[in-house]
Amino acid sequence: MSSNRHKKRLVQQGVERLRRKQGWDPAKVVRQSAQDKLQQLDQDSRNHSTYEASQDCPACTDARRESGDDTALCDHHLSKAMGF
Ligand SMILES: [Zn+2]
Repeated sequence: MSSNRHKKRLVQQGVERLRRKQGWDPAKVVRQSAQDKLQQLDQDSRNHSTYEASQDCPACTDARRESGDDTALCDHHLSKAMGF
């Protein structure tokens, strides 16, 4: 029922939310070393792939329905997205 475009938007929202949760400040990126930037890119792509995988995860679907939050993740995927 959800289109690809809808999925993409959800993934983007989820990644932005994770960024805020992890305390990332885009204004600080300028002062970061190249190594930090690489790690951030790595984190970004991990968030993206986690959110993409979570679109097909029943536990994530439950978490979204219960919280009423379209970007909610189950414990498993939340841990993955946070890099644990
Ligand atoms: Zn999940």
